[in-house]
Amino acid sequence: MNPETEASAARLFFALWLPPEVARTLHTQSGGIVGRSGGKMIREESLHVTLAFLGEIAEQRLPALQAVAAGLTLPRVPIRLDRLGYWRHNHIVWAGCSEIAPELTALAGELQRALVQAGFLDTERAVTPHVTLLRKAAHPGELPALPAQAWTAEELVLARSWRTDRGSTYEPMTRWPLVPAAPVV
Ligand code: NAP
Repeated sequence: MNPETEASAARLFFALWLPPEVARTLHTQSGGIVGRSGGKMIREESLHVTLAFLGEIAEQRLPALQAVAAGLTLPRVPIRLDRLGYWRHNHIVWAGCSEIAPELTALAGELQRALVQAGFLDTERAVTPHVTLLRKAAHPGELPALPAQAWTAEELVLARSWRTDRGSTYEPMTRWPLVPAAPVV
């Protein structure tokens, strides 16, 4: 990437942000783990479930990207996080789902298909829904049980990822409502 392009690009992803009470609970959990694992805790207000990672996007393409999201009618989805885990390959401690709601998989699929069609993604990628709690962590040993955290996601968020001296920070830029399911008649 040349310097001019780099200067006007943003590292972007679509995600579901956590309700404040769920974020607080998970952040408290990661605070109890970091003493054993080390690593950097993700800030409470930054906790999220990624649906589609775009990488560096030129800022001049932002209006087109936002138009793709605005043009979709996507449903609200149930999320239930009920386990903590550790991935050795990327040194992440995460909260995830024992069973992934098919609605969540379908939401990520529909969003990614639209992003592929509009040229913002090369290809669809399977999503393993999770919330990263700690980065650069060593193996934490046995993790505590996670009391199930369940909610219905009501907004799609386009977010920007920043690298700072104190680690990464994730900033919601634009939000779109997800629509309630039609009543069964
Ligand atoms: P990030 O990579 O900007 O990630 C933001 C969000 O997108 C996270 O939820 C992340 O999932 C997800 N994501 C990232 N790459 C993905 C992929 N290929 N497929 C699916 N989802 C993906 O987060 P970060 O903490 O800033 O950086 C993580 C690593 O990228 C670090 O090693 C960092 O040095 C490097 N990096 C960061 C930046 C930056 O500006 N933030 C720039 C260049 C390189 P997970 O939570 O599961 O990771």
